[in-house]
Amino acid sequence: MPVNNNLSEIESFIQNNNEFLLLGHENIDGDCLGSLQGLAYILAEMDKDITIGYYQALPDILQFAVAEDLRFSLIEDEIPDISQVIVLDSSGIDRLGPAVDISQQAEILNIDHHEDNNFYGDLNYISPAAAATGTIIYNLAREFNWPITDRAAQNLVLAIVSDTGFFRYSNTDAQTLATVKELMELGADLHKINRALYSQNKPERMRLLGRTLSKLEIIAARKVACLYIDEEDYQQTGTTPQDNEGFVNYARDIADVEVGILFSRENNQVKVSFRSNNYVKVNEIAAEFGGGGHPRAAGCKITGGLTEVSKKVIAEVKNHV
Ligand code: 5GP
Ligand code: MN
Repeated sequence: MPVNNNLSEIESFIQNNNEFLLLGHENIDGDCLGSLQGLAYILAEMDKDITIGYYQALPDILQFAVAEDLRFSLIEDEIPDISQVIVLDSSGIDRLGPAVDISQQAEILNIDHHEDNNFYGDLNYISPAAAATGTIIYNLAREFNWPITDRAAQNLVLAIVSDTGFFRYSNTDAQTLATVKELMELGADLHKINRALYSQNKPERMRLLGRTLSKLEIIAARKVACLYIDEEDYQQTGTTPQDNEGFVNYARDIADVEVGILFSRENNQVKVSFRSNNYVKVNEIAAEFGGGGHPRAAGCKITGGLTEVSKKVIAEVKNHV
């Protein structure tokens, strides 16, 4: 079992270097974006030179949160020539999309809360007990007396509410709420984030949701609920896969259901999102198909059509419920 570096080694890595590239995982989510921007604001306040690398357009739902005053670099093939990299919220290097070869050119500090993180960094700080990667950034900042500006606080709250479903999931503990309380005292506006995340839907996304819910299937003695989105659904509603954020929760939030699954056909592959309520470790199911995640929220990508892929996946899920 690999172990974390000492806190003093993490602190030295930050103190002894001036320029950092911050990277997260592909299909960026709120924890990832909030952690990247939160850490960027903290390090910028310490006069570090910070670039945030990203791989594809941000989902509409997160556009409100993009920090105009930070430096972003779109990575398609070429990775910025920066020797110190901090990777956030990414369980494996294979989640870095076009930056997958980053370890050949840079020293990596890996900060994450996924329990299946494989310690790919030169330095590693993994805390599966943390509800979000944003929580870890907050704890490190407190430990090292790093400056948490109001903008940093706002981003760390975005990270935490994203991975706790706004405090609804089982990973929400007293520590989570205590952290958010302190971040609010530092200037974070919780209501603003709530409105932006849940009350600013595009009509196109709501039409996609309607089509998706109309295909709901409940199987395996009502323990499994499945939702399907085909390429045609995106075309007909003028949406893209990024607009399906959160849809899988509708499958999970049904009485008696233990596992909710969303199958989304995109780029000749099917993106499978798993959520569970009480006992099924969906990260173990996702891992069997080359993916991963958390016990209650996981995902994978499988080549093939919707019918073919969903059949295979459902057969495996039935062994777990
Ligand atoms: P989502 O279903 O929201 O895309 O992902 C839920 C969780 O599963 C994420 O927190 C992420 O950690 C994990 N996950 C999603 N897709 C993949 C994947 O393709 N590979 C791995 N290793 N994890 C994934
Ligand atoms: Mn996360």
